[in-house]
Amino acid sequence: MPEDYYKILGVEKGATPEEIKKKYRTLARKYHPDVNPNDKTAEAKFKEINEAFEVLGNPQKRANYDQFGQAGPGMGRGGFGGFGGFNQADFSQFDDLFSGFGDIFNVFSGGRRRHGPQSGADLRYDLTIELEESFSGIKSKIELPRTETCGRCNGNGAEPGTSLKTCPDCNGTGEVKQTRRTPLGQFVHITMCHKCNGSGKIIENPCSECHGEGTVRKTRTIEINIPKGVDNDSHLKISGEGEAGTRGGPSGDLYIVIHVKPHKTFERYGKNLYCKRTISLSQAVLGSEIEVDTIEGKAKLKIPSGTQSHTVFKMRGQGMPDLHNGKRGDQLVKIEVLIPTKLNKKQKEMFEEFSKDKTDPVQDTKKGFFEKLKKIYQ
Ligand SMILES: [Zn+2]
Ligand SMILES: [Zn+2]
Repeated sequence: MPEDYYKILGVEKGATPEEIKKKYRTLARKYHPDVNPNDKTAEAKFKEINEAFEVLGNPQKRANYDQFGQAGPGMGRGGFGGFGGFNQADFSQFDDLFSGFGDIFNVFSGGRRRHGPQSGADLRYDLTIELEESFSGIKSKIELPRTETCGRCNGNGAEPGTSLKTCPDCNGTGEVKQTRRTPLGQFVHITMCHKCNGSGKIIENPCSECHGEGTVRKTRTIEINIPKGVDNDSHLKISGEGEAGTRGGPSGDLYIVIHVKPHKTFERYGKNLYCKRTISLSQAVLGSEIEVDTIEGKAKLKIPSGTQSHTVFKMRGQGMPDLHNGKRGDQLVKIEVLIPTKLNKKQKEMFEEFSKDKTDPVQDTKKGFFEKLKKIYQ
């Protein structure tokens, strides 16, 4: 959005309506699309001038603008947005202004912008990896079907050695003008030329590779780096590896959507890895050092004597790496104590002997618990 309508028209703040009108007329003629075919800068300038004059040429709007600036009442930031927004009074005013200019005034159709370079579409590729691969990061080669700029014609669609012909319908402007007479005056409605699809050029000898499209379908092998730490549903953006643009437009982007397969041992929660490990009753009672699986192999875990079933041990720094700084989370191991279901004679005798002890372990822990409570509330 332009910041100062007075500056755009090159007039002083106190300029008279006549001065503004005169200046506008000079500028509008200078930058008019008919005078500057296919000149984007001139086109933008022309729109800017019109937008400024739409306000400064109207006493009510000008007063609002002077008082409130662009954000003033009725001064929405809709911008130029085509001439469709003008009311009839504005049209007649324009018509009057353009008298002496061939009685022609351009009305842009909505599709006018379409024939410039167009960016290619973005692509999505779903990649399934193992948890180990998300731990270490991998290089992966993917086969990607996509549209690419034709190498034979460099995207212009013409057979090499032949040239493009200027479109006879639009004389190379890419636009077709339709003159329309209305009670308000004569209008020229500009639409995209359908013969050349707005490009202004006609291909007489289409490229044998792309048949004049300028693009071809290819399956391309791309090597991608999957960084360590990627999680399920991570999206990796690879700039410029999407579909080719047309008429020199940039390529779209490629989005790799990561799916991490379920693991037989681990479940991932953020950066932490969670697993279960069964130990024997004697290991729980007497304490032990056990070997547990980690994402990198094996590690030792110390089980203190008297470990209860469902106790969770934390193995610090044995989790997944952070995608951004590589700092690893923890591995959480939930212990399950296996109660023996078959005892030999000797073992059975031992348990019977053990049970003769008058101390009830359940009561014992309860007592301890209440004593602790008492201490807290004393
Ligand atoms: Zn080609
Ligand atoms: Zn044409």
